[in-house]
Amino acid sequence: MNKDIATPSRTREILQKHGFSFKKSLGQNFLTDPNILQKIVAAAEIDEHTNVIEVGPGIGALTEHLARAAHQVLAFEIDDRLIPVLADTLSPYDNVKVVHQDILQVDLKKETDYFDQSGPIKVVANLPYYITTPIMMHILESDLVVDELVVMMQREVADRISAKPGTKAYGSLSIAVQYYMEATTAFIVPKTVFIPQPNVDSAILRLVRRKTPAVAVTNEAEFFKLTKASFILRRKTLWNNLLNSYGKDDAAKKWLESSLQQAEIDPKRRGETLSLEEFARLSNALEANKK
Ligand code: SAM
Repeated sequence: MNKDIATPSRTREILQKHGFSFKKSLGQNFLTDPNILQKIVAAAEIDEHTNVIEVGPGIGALTEHLARAAHQVLAFEIDDRLIPVLADTLSPYDNVKVVHQDILQVDLKKETDYFDQSGPIKVVANLPYYITTPIMMHILESDLVVDELVVMMQREVADRISAKPGTKAYGSLSIAVQYYMEATTAFIVPKTVFIPQPNVDSAILRLVRRKTPAVAVTNEAEFFKLTKASFILRRKTLWNNLLNSYGKDDAAKKWLESSLQQAEIDPKRRGETLSLEEFARLSNALEANKK
């Protein structure tokens, strides 16, 4: 087996050889602990049938662990300076394709033509923290059905995604993700295993696709609009937030009032207390009562 990229000494050696300097603006914090990488691969339950998509391979620390365990790995890296570095560090692996592209611009469905065998598709990544949420939504809303994501992110964002109703962290992001996926925090990662060290704690979040969405809604776009509207001003009641988004005229008031009544939801409650089921009930009532 090749010497791990992800030790502090080998990482420094690679950076020096290629004259690489970190770009903070691209969220470049490289992992330098093979044990953590092994734990990530284990949490993702990758085997020789798994096709893996990686976001931001950096110098290939995680990529090589994925390449050893998976069938194939498709990695998207935005920084052109890393492309020759990756060609060098990943040369021992013939089951990896590195694509020089911004992940937010990638048509995932099209790019996954690379995979030469059908099998579960999993996203495994140490995400660039400055765009964690846009990346998550880009993947979840793409035409490609990703079965599982095991991704490192700021602990605070992982907490928000996996939050339960009635907690401070619960919001429209929790609902947007939990609608499609079951979310759990796999483990916490200390700052000390990165070069350079980030300012915040990190967590590995595991998301597993549900067979069907968590709740049945008649109009998905309206459901997500409702959940966003309900959290715009967290300290306000549901009623006030809904009036602000849907209009304050008599017709709108009547529509909202009768829908809330039909869904058996007290308008004086705050959005953060409503479960996914309750939001679905309210969204379906609003749809049914539309003029
Ligand atoms: N996977 C490596 C590791 O664990 O050591 C690097 C992880 S580092 C936190 C994030 C990586 O994402 C960097 O290599 C950065 O250049 C890359 N990146 C940042 N923005 C990106 C984007 N929009 N699309 C693709 N890659 C991006």
